[in-house]
Amino acid sequence: MSGKRILREKLTIGKMIALWQCSGPQASESAEHYQALQAYANKRLDKCVFGEEKPACKQCPVHCYQPAKREEMKQIMRWAGPRMLLRHPILTIRHLIDDRRPVPELPEKYRPRK
Ligand code: SF4
Repeated sequence: MSGKRILREKLTIGKMIALWQCSGPQASESAEHYQALQAYANKRLDKCVFGEEKPACKQCPVHCYQPAKREEMKQIMRWAGPRMLLRHPILTIRHLIDDRRPVPELPEKYRPRK
């Protein structure tokens, strides 16, 4: 069961993907493609090693996305980010606050062995 932070991030990513799908300049994929991308992002969030303490994905030292998916999400977020403030101001402000959280230390089992 996801906590508030993870749920909020899923919601924000969903809104960004929807915005991109409707009017993104290079949104040429099928609806199924974007559904699958959302499902992929949700799964990454559910398995995030930091849980509710997660940093912004762009600052994450683990980065758990496949490279192609990471690039696609970066493109979507770069385009949709500034447009979110007008459409979803509260969610956007919460997201900006979440983005400023410091990167926590990795949980012990994920730290490299010396
Ligand atoms: S990129 Fe990092 S912060 Fe984002 S979901 Fe993956 S492990 Fe968590």
